[in-house]
Amino acid sequence: MDVYGLVGNPVGHSLSPPMHEAAYDELGLDARYVTFEPAESDIADAVAGADALGISGLNVTIPFKQDVLDLVDPDPLAERIGAVNTIDFAGDTPRGYNTDAGGARRALTSHGVELADATAVLVGAGGAGRAIACALADAGASVRIANRTVETAESLAADVGDAASAHALDALPELLADADVLVNATSVGMDEDASPVPADALHADLTVMDAVYSPLDTRLLRDAREVGAETIDGAWMLLYQGVEAFERWTGRDAPVDAMNAALRAGL
Ligand code: NAP
Repeated sequence: MDVYGLVGNPVGHSLSPPMHEAAYDELGLDARYVTFEPAESDIADAVAGADALGISGLNVTIPFKQDVLDLVDPDPLAERIGAVNTIDFAGDTPRGYNTDAGGARRALTSHGVELADATAVLVGAGGAGRAIACALADAGASVRIANRTVETAESLAADVGDAASAHALDALPELLADADVLVNATSVGMDEDASPVPADALHADLTVMDAVYSPLDTRLLRDAREVGAETIDGAWMLLYQGVEAFERWTGRDAPVDAMNAALRAGL
């Protein structure tokens, strides 16, 4: 049996186990997906132990995504983002990947969004924002990054390269006026019914994606629907980061519909 898992702290409410196990069931794979919650100081031992025990792959979540970068051989994208969310133990050395980036890209493209030459506005420059900025730029979009702390947006824009620019949140109305895509990668909307974007800056020509998935229907998405914009909820990015991890680990096409159904049943 192949064992996969999620390492984080806390991981109690993660929907990754039902999502991945739905894929194993659908394809008849002899595999299990379990959660691990080591103390923060034990992450190096946890990764080495997983390798020694023959665990096939691990997803990595808060607070370990940055720490794990130094414990594995990261691919260039994970290195540029500065975080690893997927470890593959198949080779001689554990390899690190960041599937949040591909997850965000596939969430958009699976909804028909054309990213090449698109103008995208990204709100937020934390962990999720870094992955999404790289994904958008690598797919050919220009990326206007707006963040509460402008210095963080500037540092991310510098890492992303020429396709990115950095802005303060109060520039959002101007940044959005001629934009095609808006992605929220702040945590605003999670704990309160609030949006990081003024409702009157939204318009019908936008596709609006929220990385927040709890709640699924955020204030931002409701405001976007109100003006006739297309909306993509945060479960799509969550789904496709899992799909990409599954495909990397198993080398098989993921049963996306089964994984999506399991994920949405848990949300
Ligand atoms: P993070 O690294 O802590 O970054 C938080 C971001 O939110 C920063 O840009 C921060 O700005 C901004 N922010 C926080 N409070 C704010 C406020 N009151 N007003 C304006 N901006 C504010 O968090 P993260 O890991 O990137 O996660 C961000 C969100 O994405 C969370 O809701 C998380 O659940 C979600 N997420 C979803 C997926 C998915 O697959 N759907 C994957 C990863 C994360 P400053 O820099 O100024 O602090």
